Amino acid sequence: MSINANFVNNVVIVGGGTAGWMTAAALSHKFGNTGTQITLVESAEIGTVGVGEATLPHIRFFNAAMGIDETDLMARTQATFKLGIEFCGWGKEGESYIHPFGDYGEPHNGIAFHHLWTQQRLAGNAKRICEYSLPVMMAEANRYAMPDADPNALLSTFGYAYQFDASLYAAHLSQLSQKRGVKRVEGKITHAKRSADTGRISAVVLENGAQVEGDLFVDCSGFRGLLIEQELKTGYEDWSHYLPCNRALAVPCEPSGPIGPYTRATARKAGWQWRIPLQHRIGNGHVYCSDYISDDEAAAILIDNLEGPAIAEPRPLFFKTGRRNKLWNGNVVSIGLSGGFLEPLESTSIHLIQQGITALVELFPTQDSMEEDAAEYNAMMRLEFDRVRDFLVLHYVANQREGEKFWDDMRRMEWPASLKEKVAAFVHSGIIPSYDVGAFLPPSWLAVFVGQNIVPQAYDPRLDHLDSAAIASSMEERRRQIADAVNTLPVHMDFVRGHCPGAMVAEMVAEKIPSL
Ligand SMILES: Cc1cc2nc3c(=O)[nH]c(=O)nc-3n(C[C@H](O)[C@H](O)[C@H](O)COP(=O)(O)OP(=O)(O)OC[C@H]3O[C@@H](n4cnc5c(N)ncnc54)[C@H](O)[C@@H]3O)c2cc1C
Repeated sequence: MSINANFVNNVVIVGGGTAGWMTAAALSHKFGNTGTQITLVESAEIGTVGVGEATLPHIRFFNAAMGIDETDLMARTQATFKLGIEFCGWGKEGESYIHPFGDYGEPHNGIAFHHLWTQQRLAGNAKRICEYSLPVMMAEANRYAMPDADPNALLSTFGYAYQFDASLYAAHLSQLSQKRGVKRVEGKITHAKRSADTGRISAVVLENGAQVEGDLFVDCSGFRGLLIEQELKTGYEDWSHYLPCNRALAVPCEPSGPIGPYTRATARKAGWQWRIPLQHRIGNGHVYCSDYISDDEAAAILIDNLEGPAIAEPRPLFFKTGRRNKLWNGNVVSIGLSGGFLEPLESTSIHLIQQGITALVELFPTQDSMEEDAAEYNAMMRLEFDRVRDFLVLHYVANQREGEKFWDDMRRMEWPASLKEKVAAFVHSGIIPSYDVGAFLPPSWLAVFVGQNIVPQAYDPRLDHLDSAAIASSMEERRRQIADAVNTLPVHMDFVRGHCPGAMVAEMVAEKIPSL
């Protein structure tokens, strides 16, 4: 293969966490046969952040594009299915709702379902909105089966993601990438070298003196941002005034409750606690703001609320929410925690990694197009981060936990202007942001709005020209169909055992241990 001086011939990925190996897998898949050399440098001594178990449905398309067999991957990573997230206590204490991956009801004459629901609710006829959502009812009943491929079937109205061991996922991608020609270098990077002509980074230097040269560097070094921040001083847009949680304690425990097809996020005194059920253990963590609660109190809350014995010591993590001023600077693209972090409330980090990789593949530069590609990349990724930020902030500002300082302050904070507009449009006329791409589409906004008691005061006026009784009866019919369909589905873990048993579960089934 001839080497063209304008091509990016050497890509160096700095870091071998989930971000690094997802990037390596994607770039080797896309460019492995073009002569581009891909090298990944990682340091076992530094290790990875080691958390991140809940995902969004988009990851399935990434894996499919990589040629990864889903059933095999789920078994390898001890994965369970995820139909959404249950939010407990985010409206009023004692209330809960599920944000599902899927639709609510059906549109009528081109009018979105939530308008029908609003019309019927204002007339006193509608049931809880979740009863019109198949994935919510499946999650509440702890049932699961794969979606139907027929788009007209009721069982096609949901999506799913995974709850998995992200370290095992990265290990699988590492094997796959190395088979596709990615060169893995073990070692600790001490500094970077720059080209005297261009000022661009030309190599990273390891502790043992070895140098790894490249034309393009993907910084996947985690929170430290080795190249994007420590070397290039790109700067960080701090969003802790919107999303002030800055610490987490993570601890796995033995399962004792059901291993349901959903993640749980329970509001606590100054933050929230996650529960992510995998096949062999439950992942737990307490995300909190250190201005309102001590680390000891946060640890006590976490441990007191575990459903089974802890399997390890709680591990502390420190972060500042926000994103880099530029995710692509010069010849460095930051992907993963090095580019920004918005806290794990809606499992968006791996999704943002995926978005970063997709944009990099689309805008893969030549030597002399880097500036233009970077500008476009930064605009795309800024939009992704901003939209995710608004969605996360909504959960906090729409709380009704009166009398708790953290939550009172969250309600009173200065909202992002873009979020204020979205809430006002929904309350006034039932309008939902209608992005057709991005992490969260209209059903997600609807779930959180209504789940946290933000309801529209008006519906689409075209409904007043339609037969309201007929609408009520078709909604009721749909609700019944959903309830009937759920009753026919297998219990989630029975389905998992039959479909993709992880090693330990397979052993338990063989030994007939009924504990899962
Ligand atoms: C509390 C918490 C909960 C989370 N939960 C979720 C979740 O449920 N879902 C989700 O999608 N995401 C979640 N995330 C985010 C998720 O963990 C990360 O997005 C994901 O793990 C990617 O991390 P990373 O690869 O960017 O960084 P890391 O995992 O930190 O990897 C960094 C890599 O860089 C290497 N490195 C660093 N410095 C050097 C050096 N000097 N020399 C050589 N190598 C170096 C390290 O060895 C490592 O290989 C969570 C994050 C936190 C903090």
